[in-house]
Amino acid sequence: MRYISTRGGTIGQYSDILVEGLAPNGGLAVPERMPQVDAAQLEQWRDLSYPELATEVIGLFATEIPRNDLAKLCRAAYEPAKYASDRAVPLTDIGEGMTLVGLSEGPTLAFKDMAMQFLGEALEYVLATSGDVLNVLGATSGDTGSAAEHALRGRDRISVFMLSPQGRMSAFQRAQMYSLQDENVHNIAVEGVFDDCQHLVKSLAEDLAFKREHHIGAVNSINFGRISAQIVYYIWAWLRVTDELPTEKRTGFEVSFAVPSGNFGNILSGLYARLMGLPVRKLVLATNENNVLDEFFRTGRYRPRSSADTLATSSPSMDVSRASNLERFIFHLLGRDPERTAATWKTLASEGEFDLSSELSRFSEEFGIVSGTSTHQDRLDTIRSFNSSTGVTIDPHTADGAKVARDFVEPGVPMLVLETAKPQKFADTISEALGSPAEVDAETQALLDAPQRVTKLPNDEAQLRAFIEENALR
Ligand SMILES: *Cc1c(COP(=O)(O)O)cnc(C)c1O
Repeated sequence: MRYISTRGGTIGQYSDILVEGLAPNGGLAVPERMPQVDAAQLEQWRDLSYPELATEVIGLFATEIPRNDLAKLCRAAYEPAKYASDRAVPLTDIGEGMTLVGLSEGPTLAFKDMAMQFLGEALEYVLATSGDVLNVLGATSGDTGSAAEHALRGRDRISVFMLSPQGRMSAFQRAQMYSLQDENVHNIAVEGVFDDCQHLVKSLAEDLAFKREHHIGAVNSINFGRISAQIVYYIWAWLRVTDELPTEKRTGFEVSFAVPSGNFGNILSGLYARLMGLPVRKLVLATNENNVLDEFFRTGRYRPRSSADTLATSSPSMDVSRASNLERFIFHLLGRDPERTAATWKTLASEGEFDLSSELSRFSEEFGIVSGTSTHQDRLDTIRSFNSSTGVTIDPHTADGAKVARDFVEPGVPMLVLETAKPQKFADTISEALGSPAEVDAETQALLDAPQRVTKLPNDEAQLRAFIEENALR
């Protein structure tokens, strides 16, 4: 399988796009054709374990990696010891025609583990083959950074420099990152807000000479390795739902998915599963008050907001107003035409927005994406209502998904709500919703009490450079 840029030209194969995902012309890497999966294939996959299914699905995209090697990577990424559930991704009925898909059983209690654990294995494998080293540089406001650090800790040939805003993360998020004592993990607490962190990362990443000299790379949400690994759980969830059906009803049985969205990475993987042939009826995109994507899917107008106009909400991992993966969807919407995609992004750069309402209404059946917005009050109400009806406590992001999903439940079509984080990560909102502080279990308490390892730096590019120069692998 070869990878092309959404703005034209060939990039390389899977191993080439694992570190970056960005093409030199500014476009994003996409597979040159979508692999297809038919009903017979799905049936053949029915009895596979999660790591076995991952090998099959990712293998459709990583065609140059020998199957035995890929199987080893997937076994390591999804070994039962790393997940609270022995099936890695459990499904739980929560009533109202909805089922929770448990994507947060991994080491950092958020769905990003599902992709990041695989990416950690895959990067180490690719680097061992090429003999290179990689210094991963990133900025985080919480979930991405900890998932990346837990996936990359202790690995040969890889180190992590993760910037986080001083005093802006929850105690739990801080503990999850800063308690890591691994030599190759460098937590950098910047005096500033998340945007300052991101800005620092961006200016270093734009210095190509510095980047090359210090082998700097990223594992952010445009990473195609992550996108490909996320496709697995859509197929897994469909298989588990149809397990319950008589054999003759399984073929073509449709389910819908509700996806709490920020950078459009998770739902893009769902769209890929649908384009590959998985019987998906609707993909329900849920946003919080930062509802740029909801506006786009309702009206066809895409009007990203500046970071100053992005609200800090109680589902913070969805506080995104410029979805980095949207270009991959637009590429498909425009008939996989790189020239039109490039032109659309040119319009965006010059006018700050674009309008694709006619394309969107013409092809809405083909993509099946519908959308809605949820607010802080909605989150509280939704957490409370599922807690009282089923005893299941969902986190604020998952609550955004479930809230929006309610409007799109259809009789006979299971609505699979992706659980993107565990509630204990967001204790304040849970206690606001349920009236009592979330229980702190012994494991959480131990994490909160563990010694922390973090370097404080001012919001200053020169000092960050010096720190990286001193600590980077070479
Ligand atoms: C990252 C994240 C999201 C958003 O996912 P995208 O792939 O960026 O759309 C939603 N919920 C949680 C808990 C997350 O960590």
